[in-house]
Amino acid sequence: MIRINPNYPKLSSSYLFSEISRRVAAFKAERADATVINMGVGDVTLPLTPTVVQAFRRAVDEMGKAETFRGYPPELGYEFLRSAIAENDFQARGADVDPDEIVISDGAKSDTANIQELFAGDIRIAIPDPVYPVYVDTNVMAGRTGPYRDGRYGGLIYLDCTEDNQFIPEPPKSRVDLIYLCFPNNPTGATIDRGRLTGWVEYARGARALILYDAAYVSFIRDESLPQTIYEIPGARECAIEFRSFSKTAGFTGTRCAFTVVPKTCVAWDAEGREHSLHALWSRRQSTKFNGVSYPVQRAAAAIYTPEGKKETRGLSDYYLGNARVVRRKMDSLGFACVGGDNSPYVWVRTGADSWSFFDRLLRTAAVVITPGSGFGSCGEGYIRMSAFNSRELVEEAMERIGRVAGELRGAD
Ligand code: PLP
Repeated sequence: MIRINPNYPKLSSSYLFSEISRRVAAFKAERADATVINMGVGDVTLPLTPTVVQAFRRAVDEMGKAETFRGYPPELGYEFLRSAIAENDFQARGADVDPDEIVISDGAKSDTANIQELFAGDIRIAIPDPVYPVYVDTNVMAGRTGPYRDGRYGGLIYLDCTEDNQFIPEPPKSRVDLIYLCFPNNPTGATIDRGRLTGWVEYARGARALILYDAAYVSFIRDESLPQTIYEIPGARECAIEFRSFSKTAGFTGTRCAFTVVPKTCVAWDAEGREHSLHALWSRRQSTKFNGVSYPVQRAAAAIYTPEGKKETRGLSDYYLGNARVVRRKMDSLGFACVGGDNSPYVWVRTGADSWSFFDRLLRTAAVVITPGSGFGSCGEGYIRMSAFNSRELVEEAMERIGRVAGELRGAD
């Protein structure tokens, strides 16, 4: 009898997005005349930029000619892309990252999901709440948690992110081995300053712990005082792995390209206390289970680092940040407490009601869809996530509708 992985039934059902779709479908069935605006989407809406498309096309042409055809890509990714990344994203900011410490992949989702394979089954894991659900679910699948009860899995150390700590988790009192951090944050849009990130690096070094730093939204940072990579913090090369993605930076959600930085100075220990290089382990894992990102996609990604590419790519995040400003200004003016939206495409809004009641009321009164905060963890209850990934026109229309029904929304409890 073929038996399943016993950890899979422990997963709480992926209720959030299916439940949103179900409620929206029911509403549309009732109100065929309503035009629904979706302000909950985490996918980009603007197309690839001209410089990226041109590089993509040129590389496809190369693949069609015997003299320039290429087979499997190098295991860590093409050198032309890794060098462009190291120089522009890290060395230009004074962060010491070598091209050989960068591993190209098909997504930050798969990398943040797969990295836990490198670690022992009984490590202590700290997870912020609310959180991007992939970090939690992959550890559930790997058997590192107990059952799911009252919105939380047994065995994980949850780090509450609330208004009291400006949605930036504090290092725990107890010792943990693995820490997930994401800044700018999905879902809250919060950013971390140098001082607090230094606190985390010091904690990790003291505890011989590892920080998994997800910087998928780094291209939205405009405040120059904020760190853009954890490697701007002294000591981070010894205790942190950083994940990046071209998805939100350059509209690659459908093209697929990302990378992970694993410094060669980053180590973990076996049961006998012997040191192991995490770069060696990650390279071993990737070369065994993954055959790389296609040449045209890597060429398209490298085009982002040309002078034209940089300008165009900046234009994408500028546009979404403009949308986020429209959202933030409106919600602020209506008296809702908000974070995010200034260095992030997400605005996290306190509703004064439970997340799903607010969702229903907004859908019924304004035909606007948002993401209920409770779907990201129990600390998300009472909040919603609004996304800037949309057209300016629709964002303005959504905000106008919300303004018209604000009185009703406040009584959503
Ligand atoms: N990390 C965070 C925090 C995200 O929000 C997302 C996508 O929404 C990802 C990673 C996934 O990125 P990718 O498209 O590179 O898989």
